[in-house]
Parts: sequence; structure tokens; C-alpha cells
Amino acid sequence: MKSLAVLHVSQLVTLAGPRRPRTGGELSELAIVGDGGMLIRDGRIEAVGPSAEIEKKAGDAEVIDARGKVVLPGFIDAHTHLVFAGNRLGDFERRARGDTYEQIAKAGGGIWSTVEKTRAATEPDLLAQARRHADWFLLCGTTTVESKSGYGLSVEDELKILRVMRGLNQETPLEIVPTFLGAHAVPRKMRADEYVDLVVNEMLWRVTSDGLAEFCDVFCERGYFDIEQSRRILTAAKKLGLKLRIHADQLSNSGGAKLAAELKTTTADHLEKTDEQGIAALKSADVQPVLLPASVYALGARHYPRAREMIEAGLAVVIATDFNPGSSPTPSMPMILSLACTQMKMSPAEAISASTINPAYSLGRGDQIGSLESGKMANFSIFNCEDYRELVYWFGFPQTHSVYVEGSRAH
Ligand SMILES: [Zn+2]
Repeated sequence: MKSLAVLHVSQLVTLAGPRRPRTGGELSELAIVGDGGMLIRDGRIEAVGPSAEIEKKAGDAEVIDARGKVVLPGFIDAHTHLVFAGNRLGDFERRARGDTYEQIAKAGGGIWSTVEKTRAATEPDLLAQARRHADWFLLCGTTTVESKSGYGLSVEDELKILRVMRGLNQETPLEIVPTFLGAHAVPRKMRADEYVDLVVNEMLWRVTSDGLAEFCDVFCERGYFDIEQSRRILTAAKKLGLKLRIHADQLSNSGGAKLAAELKTTTADHLEKTDEQGIAALKSADVQPVLLPASVYALGARHYPRAREMIEAGLAVVIATDFNPGSSPTPSMPMILSLACTQMKMSPAEAISASTINPAYSLGRGDQIGSLESGKMANFSIFNCEDYRELVYWFGFPQTHSVYVEGSRAH
């Protein structure tokens, strides 16, 4: 049995607390142990407490001296599009010059350009690119990501993307939670209804019979999949045993949050345009909101989701990167913490809860990860600062010292 003792941590941020997602004032309770220590055996946390006590129990454990440093549970990123080919540098430059989405799409950019490159890529090729992305997440202190398909938009290409996720999960320390997002956009030369038929009648069946996804997601938005089409896909997915997530109310207040409440999806994501009624609907069904401030930032937009109102309404808020090549090219959770505080007026403590314990529950893993408590997996990051608030305050550069997954060094 391999043992590890992390000692003399300036702030051991444990997030110990009730065994459920945190809401309201609980989001601010980080259960910090000053001069803390943690004993790890066989990849699991055995004990957490004052460093002096842990040292007594450490025996012949390998010691990490974390003096002057902060230790946090590994970040859990509950919304990413990790597998795709290429990038969107051209779009980025055009947008910087002031071109609209329509002009960019006309010039051959937009989501379709990523779909074409992803379709053309072989499985090993996609895996190599995804491996690079996975490494970026680990570098930023993230140890679990949810990852959506959705740049294939055909039966074989969607399955290819999900297989790449499975392959990646086997070879990287980063844990990948797969979501099937066949309904990310309507492919060219197809009507939306025709494509929804394909998703419901063929894709979902293939995905679930191969056990390639845990969740199903839909891009519910005007010009993509309307309420009725989204309901049809998600209902079919639920019957096949998938849990549900939904892209809702990003570009317009189109009733996505209400549909999430009706179907009792696990999460409703984006919610930039959700109003009080939508917030109340989410609360009535205990749907967790997943807020994605980097996609607002990277598009140069200003309309951030109403995080404060959601917290005050009692929702178990989650924040995530939305890592993707078009609207949010960042794997960095510290960047998201910065945006949550400066743009959505969350406190640093609320942002930490919303990027660790709450997303763990949103991925059905709250009993295994998301906090540093005995019995849980030893997934944690050490940062080169003495106060957890520094992670949010100093921004734009990595403060990561090291990252551990199941007690082994991952970065
Ligand atoms: Zn997304």
C-alpha cells in the first residue's frame, strides 16, 4: 500500500460538510484547516486534520511539505466540449475586427468548420489532440471533466468522438465523464426534424448499447433545437437510462429553463437569458444551474447569468469552463473563478464551492470526489499561495504547484 502525508498546509480547503450539493450560505463554508495535514493510503483519503496530528499517524508515508501553500480538492469541470479537431483562430481574428457571427459563418467559420475538421480526423488523430487538451486541464488543477460529443453530427462521427473520450479516459489521469450531445446543431442539408429522428431512432440506441455516455444533452435554442424537439430527444434518452443536461437560454429566453424543470434534468447550462420565472422553475425541480462566464467573456458580450439571484433563490450553483474552440477556448478553472467574482459578483468561497463539491454532485460523484474527507478519492491540487483567495485575486497565470489524482502525481 502506498501512503502519502501532506503536511503543514497553510490552508487545507476541505469543503467537508453535508453530503449533498451546497446552497445559500453553505456555499461560503469551505471548512478550512490552518496548518493542516492529510493522510492518503492507496489513493484514498484516510485522515484530514491539524498537521501535527496527521504527522503522528504518518508512519513511513512519503511526506509532501506544503508550507506556504494552499491545497484544494481537484476542480471538477461540469461542462466541456473536449474532443474536437483544429481550432478557430480565423473566427477569433474576425470577431476581434468586429465581424458578426453571420459574416464569420459566411466566410467558412463557425461550428460547421469544426464539424468538418472533426469528421475528417482519424480516431488516433483526434485522440492526440484531446490528449493535449486533457493535459491543459490538469495543469490548471482540474481532475475531473464532463465532456460532450457534438462535433460529428452523424452516427459514425458522434460514436467516434465518444470512443476517443473512452480511450482518453483510460490513458490520462484526468477523469472524463462522457455526455452525448448529438443535438448540438442541425447538420447541413438536413431539416431539424429529420435530424431529430436520426438522433432518437439511431444515435441514442447505438450510444447506449455501447455504453458510451452517462448523460444526454441538447442545444435548446432558436435556430438549433426548439422546445418540442429538445423534449423529444431528452425523453427518449431518459428511457434508455441516460441522465440529462441541457444547453438552455444562452442566446434567448426561449423556455429552456422551464423545460429543464419539467424533465427534471440534472443540470441546466448557460442560462444567460433566464429570468426570475426560469430561476423559480429550476428551484422547484432542484435542477443545478451550470454557469459559463468564459463564453460570455470570450465572445466580448456583457450579459452574464444572474448568479446572485440564483444563489439567493437557493440553487446549487455550478461554474464551468465550457471549453470549446468557438466560444470559450479556455481550460482554466482559476480563470472561471476570476470571472465569477468580477463579473457575476460571487465571493471567492462561493466560486470554490461551485467548482468542486457542487459539480461533483452534478456528475453523480458527490460521494467520491469534490471535497477532502476521509474515504474520498485523493484528488487534490497544491497551489503556490498562502490564502485561497489569492487564486482568484491574482489572475492570468497558473499558480499550480502540483496536481494529484488518486494519490499519484498527475501534473
Ligand atoms: Zn456548451
